[in-house]
Amino acid sequence: MAVERTLSIIKPDATARNLTGAIAKMFEDAGLRIVASKRIHLTPAQAGKFYEVHAERPFYGELCEFMASAPVVVQVLEGENAVAKNREVMGATNPAEAAEGTVRKAFALSIGENSVHGSDSAENAAIEIAFFFSGLELVG
Ligand code: ADP
Ligand code: MG
Repeated sequence: MAVERTLSIIKPDATARNLTGAIAKMFEDAGLRIVASKRIHLTPAQAGKFYEVHAERPFYGELCEFMASAPVVVQVLEGENAVAKNREVMGATNPAEAAEGTVRKAFALSIGENSVHGSDSAENAAIEIAFFFSGLELVG
């Protein structure tokens, strides 16, 4: 297995409930290393650009509004098989279907307000990391 990096976002519903540390601990306990981290407040336009791939989906407007509703914490997670590992720790998109012990099972409020984002492939991880972080911010 290769050491990979993936992009994680702790979403507004989670930062609002002071869950940043609890969620970060779940990543670290799973063997992922937080190699970059910052708290930012996205504009609706920035959220729209980030989620551009979902532009045709019916929940796109709602998703962009939600992501710009309060601060988020964007992080780069590094580790063996980090993309798949992070998706495993996150749990299913819909918290009703998320497995016990996952972030979304523990904390998500709904299919929309589901506490975390994680890249879905190594290729998208590279694009999403570059969206939020410069090379200078990735110190390992
Ligand atoms: P994931 O975040 O698990 O990769 P998707 O990429 O399919 O899921 O969707 C992106 C985000 O859009 C979800 O995390 C969630 O916040 C929101 N979303 C997905 N499906 C719905 C839905 N049916 N209704 C409202 N919001 C949704
Ligand atoms: Mg996705």
